[in-house]
Amino acid sequence: MKCMNCGQENKDAAKACRKCSRDLATPPAWFPDGKWHLKTLGIIYACLVVFYFGVSFILKSLPKPYHIRKIPIEMTPWLGKAKYLPEDQLKAPAK
Ligand SMILES: [Zn+2]
Repeated sequence: MKCMNCGQENKDAAKACRKCSRDLATPPAWFPDGKWHLKTLGIIYACLVVFYFGVSFILKSLPKPYHIRKIPIEMTPWLGKAKYLPEDQLKAPAK
């Protein structure tokens, strides 16, 4: 068994390193390396791509008119150009 601390070769049954006396029974602490980061980020990116296309497919399969991505101005007149009401329409109706 090779020591994770100093690299000294030890007997497989050894409980501590001959050279640095590190405890060989406990596993070494784990640290993420570049390969782990690439793999994890790749998995996250792949999940996001699958999610995006899944949501796009679901939105395209919606019935009319909910499948429309660019909503015509007739359906949303409040999103059109800012218009100010004429002065006479702002007044309270006469009794
Ligand atoms: Zn050692």
